[in-house]
Amino acid sequence: MRIVRECAELIATRDAMEESVGFVPTMGALHEGHLSLIRRAREENDRVIVSIFVNPTQFLEGEDLEKYPRKEEADRKICELAGVDLLFMPTPEAIYGADELRIEAPKVRGYILEGASRPGHFDGVLQVVMKLLNLTRPDRAYFGKKDAQQLVLVEQMVRNYFLRTRIVPCEIVRDPDGLALSSRNVYLSPDERRRALAISRSLKRAGKLIQSGVREASAILEAMRGVLEGEVDELEYVAAVDREFRPVERIEPGEAILLVAARVGTTRLIDNLWV
Ligand code: AMP
Repeated sequence: MRIVRECAELIATRDAMEESVGFVPTMGALHEGHLSLIRRAREENDRVIVSIFVNPTQFLEGEDLEKYPRKEEADRKICELAGVDLLFMPTPEAIYGADELRIEAPKVRGYILEGASRPGHFDGVLQVVMKLLNLTRPDRAYFGKKDAQQLVLVEQMVRNYFLRTRIVPCEIVRDPDGLALSSRNVYLSPDERRRALAISRSLKRAGKLIQSGVREASAILEAMRGVLEGEVDELEYVAAVDREFRPVERIEPGEAILLVAARVGTTRLIDNLWV
């Protein structure tokens, strides 16, 4: 496995790859969720590139940029074992210059839900994803459904900017008790972790209601709130949207996404269910 930190070296190494290339962008502290993306990329491409970059421009003032878990040594081993060909670990200075041209998230879809809780977050996400896609020119890039709004916005960017990469959505990986894997789960105390399970439980409850024929979004969201109340410390939002992230009043199976964002202790967690 080749480890690259400079953009010029990444471009040269990538350009020497003649076969198909799969790309998995991450912020590191790799877990089974990331690994599932890497494994899928390994299966579907001749070469696999992974990036590990804690992108400063997608963190808002006061968020956890400084304390975001960094585990370079362990991440390297995980990538090596998973058969990654090229691991890109740039410094912020390698990626960003002064007074840069900026990509802006769309005004509606980029500023509701996650975008309302974290205004400007998706500008930073799209900015870095655009750079990484241009650097790696992958045939396929793998994104988790865990970050549903991010996935939908990246797909939109690829359409709007006529990028040549195919975006591959990947299923959410969970711990056996239901908690969606996240690098931020390490912040949770045992009691917080137990209470955080209400998030996946609320989505499970919603799934059951939909299975039993309930279609009214308000009834489903109310039931979800009931599961979450008293467990999470702050419920930022529960929402039902369609695959384009427009709010829906009726849940049509195959067309809807149910979303939760909540704080447990000081840790902000998101989860969702594609119904
Ligand atoms: P991150 O390192 O948090 O930026 O995540 C990198 C990629 O891994 C993103 O496409 C995430 O959606 C994806 N990812 C993170 N957690 C999970 C999970 N539990 N299951 C599936 N994909 C995930």
